[in-house]
Amino acid sequence: MRKVLIVGGGIAGPVLGMWLKRLGLEVSIIEARPTAAVGEGAFLGVAPNGMNALEPLGVAAAVAAAGSACESFQFINRKGEAIGSIDRSGDASAFGRPLTMIRRGQLNALLAEEAARQGVDIRWGQRLVAVDETHPSHVMARFEDGSEASADLLIGCDGLRSRVRSLILPDAPAPRFTGLLDYGGFAQGVQVPVPPGVNLMLFGRRAFFGAFVTPSGEIWWFHNGAPESPDLEALRKHSDPTRERERLLELHREDPPWVSDVIRATPKLLGPWPIYDLHAMPRWHSGRVCLLGDAAHAMSPSAGQGASLAMEDALVLAQCLRDIPTPAKAFAAFEKARRPRVDAIFRAARRNGSGKAVSGAVSEWFRDRLLPFFLRLGASGQSKMYSYRLEWNQSRA
Ligand SMILES: Cc1cc2nc3c(=O)[nH]c(=O)nc-3n(C[C@H](O)[C@H](O)[C@H](O)COP(=O)(O)OP(=O)(O)OC[C@H]3O[C@@H](n4cnc5c(N)ncnc54)[C@H](O)[C@@H]3O)c2cc1C
Repeated sequence: MRKVLIVGGGIAGPVLGMWLKRLGLEVSIIEARPTAAVGEGAFLGVAPNGMNALEPLGVAAAVAAAGSACESFQFINRKGEAIGSIDRSGDASAFGRPLTMIRRGQLNALLAEEAARQGVDIRWGQRLVAVDETHPSHVMARFEDGSEASADLLIGCDGLRSRVRSLILPDAPAPRFTGLLDYGGFAQGVQVPVPPGVNLMLFGRRAFFGAFVTPSGEIWWFHNGAPESPDLEALRKHSDPTRERERLLELHREDPPWVSDVIRATPKLLGPWPIYDLHAMPRWHSGRVCLLGDAAHAMSPSAGQGASLAMEDALVLAQCLRDIPTPAKAFAAFEKARRPRVDAIFRAARRNGSGKAVSGAVSEWFRDRLLPFFLRLGASGQSKMYSYRLEWNQSRA
């Protein structure tokens, strides 16, 4: 085993690339995007467990420096009343790193840059279209431009809509729409009722709204709500930012006024992103090909763990390839090691996501009173996810 082709240079791809370089392998990443595109996408949180999976690669400090620490979550109802909170100010001392909020484009670019610096070959603007697994000694990949490449192993880090997955496991279940549509943006100059470092979560009258204020005063926000039409593809392809901004303003009309101010103050509305999840895959691998991150298991952002699980996956797959000489056995060991954790977090993400659904006045009344109790449980569940720590030296043999 010498040469590995990684399809996808988002989050899982570059992290896996760096680990495989540690094993002395020749690694190429094939990425469909034309460049690292620092300004792309909205933002996400890298949880302490994700940061810890990056630490031995020497990348966690750069992610921390480019992002901002989250000190707490505060939950408010549509009247702006506080209905609960989760204190996360002790995370850095408890887990090594805090939950780190970072722009997605910046995280992707930083990981790709670091992977390239560590010797990973990254080919931008190349899209995988076919995989040929019929050769016993290698796997062939074909790209949109007609070119081909062969490798000893091919790893699909190509996200929720993984082409690799559809090629190697054509009967795998399709991603499931969670019922939530996501928008987001970056705004400035609006007074949001929390200090920097707090993830403010609003259960609005007709939609959910989250806001995070960075130390420089920038407001990073997202909206989760039901789509206007069931035709999600049409919605994505023919999105009209002016009309959609109007729609978001209408959806938040009965919420605290700062929400509409933030939406109005956003120069560029980002989205819509229909939120999907993917579970119960029959397998994550076939022959010399394996899936990783969202390509194997995708969860709604409501647990804030998709990216961190992809980072953990990369470390564990590299351990398995280091310790188990046969690819098929290494892939099977990887899947076995990861499934229980992924499944548990998937269930938590679905639970959290369903709590964002809009409810009537009676259920709102109950929610406001029961939330503190559920948040206490949620906080300990979150701490359990955060405390998870992988050691590179652990043997997988
Ligand atoms: C709105 C939203 C908010 C989120 N917030 C959070 C959060 O706060 N915390 C968190 O942990 N997670 C969050 N997530 C989930 C997180 O983004 C994913 O779990 C994570 O990006 C998975 O990483 P990945 O590398 O597996 O896939 P991706 O990041 O999707 O990367 C896949 C890459 O593959 C490339 N690609 C695709 N097809 C091909 C092809 N055929 N050939 C070549 N390249 C290809 C793509 O261009 C892309 O760069 C969020 C997701 C969404 C949608």
